[in-house]
Amino acid sequence: MDDRTFRRAMGKFATGVTVVTTEFQGEAKGMTANAFMSVSLDPKLVVVSIGHKARMHDIVKQTGKFAVNILRRDQEELSRLFAGQLKEERHVSFDWVNGHPILPEALANILCNVHSTYVAGDHTLYFGEVTDILMKDEPGDPLLFFEGKYRSIGQ
Ligand code: FAD
Ligand code: NAD
Repeated sequence: MDDRTFRRAMGKFATGVTVVTTEFQGEAKGMTANAFMSVSLDPKLVVVSIGHKARMHDIVKQTGKFAVNILRRDQEELSRLFAGQLKEERHVSFDWVNGHPILPEALANILCNVHSTYVAGDHTLYFGEVTDILMKDEPGDPLLFFEGKYRSIGQ
């Protein structure tokens, strides 16, 4: 089976979009990821799958912690930025919470310590034990990703 068929099929699974962030050498670092899942309630675990070619892969290995920022529908540009798809650099304002850089306008920020890892092919699954959660009180719609395109609820 070719890669295109696999990606087209996986693209039929609609997801939200997150930016995985961590602090590295005193600076914030982020990477767009839609391979995110809730795993366990007791203990509270989530997982993100990070490709071995991504710089974030080695960074999280070293920092041992990460935050998952669930993007709002109006944060497509941030998704493109942290996927390396914008030509120009942008200044991004992070809030800092317990040593984690987080995106303040996200729908939710899930702060984690790395609980365990599992190498799976060309990606590593980073399981995170959740230490803190920040959420907005006001309602907001998520940014969605389906068939390789950004979408929003009702669109
Ligand atoms: P880099 O290339 O180092 O950084 C990515 C971009 O973020 C760069 O443009 C950089 O300038 C910018 N950036 C980083 N930190 C900052 C900062 N503090 N301020 C301003 N800009 C900053 N890959 C996966 O492995 N797993 C996934 O689940 C996944 N899901 C994806 C979902 C979508 C919708 C998309 C579009 C891409 C996804 N990717 C995923 C691909 C991944 O986002 C890119 O391959 C990414 O560029 C690899 O990250 P890197 O760590 O090598 O980042
Ligand atoms: P796309 O059409 O390539 O993605 C459709 C779906 O295929 C994704 O939602 C994901 O489930 C799967 N997928 C894509 N690339 C993958 C990879 N390298 N490993 C495992 N699963 C993968 O979407 P696009 O808009 O062309 O993506 C832009 C870039 O972001 C591409 O370089 C793509 O490879 C990358 N991306 C990577 C992942 C990932 O590593 N899990 C997920 C999404 C997008």
